[in-house]
Amino acid sequence: MFAAGHFLFCLFTFYFCFFTFRLYNNHSVMSENCLFCKIIDGTIPSARVFEDDVCIAFNDISPQAPTHILVIPREHFDSLDKAETGHKETLGHLLLTAAAIAREKGFSEDGYRVVLNTNADGGQTVFHLHVHLLGGRQFIFPPG
Ligand code: 5GP
Ligand code: ZN
Repeated sequence: MFAAGHFLFCLFTFYFCFFTFRLYNNHSVMSENCLFCKIIDGTIPSARVFEDDVCIAFNDISPQAPTHILVIPREHFDSLDKAETGHKETLGHLLLTAAAIAREKGFSEDGYRVVLNTNADGGQTVFHLHVHLLGGRQFIFPPG
């Protein structure tokens, strides 16, 4: 009887510590109910074209150009509007990754467009910062 009680207590303690650790650990990098966090953790599938320890890049589900790739940080932050000084390196990394993918895809010399929609007037619909990399056609300016 004592052994069973002891076992249950240990089990409860283990699960409590495990879930507290997970919650604490993920707090600053993941956001619950964020579509792109789910793409990062694989809950929602995507066609990945690149990944490293800072970001992942995958094909947009509704492409607006022959190549339309989203480059997103593994760390969740809502938008450029919410970026802080500590995000400087991450933001630079996203841009350099987009440039490297454009070179790798072979359209960097012809040119391409990098877009960072921010908040409602900027046309942002997914609130996990992301860089659009669009290539393979001529773009006009200003965009609509
Ligand atoms: P935004 O409008 O926020 O700048 O861009 C969000 C982008 O995410 C859109 O281009 C949209 O097509 C894309 N998107 C939305 N849901 C999904 C999805 O489930 N998978 C992929 N790969 N892209 C998505
Ligand atoms: Zn997110």
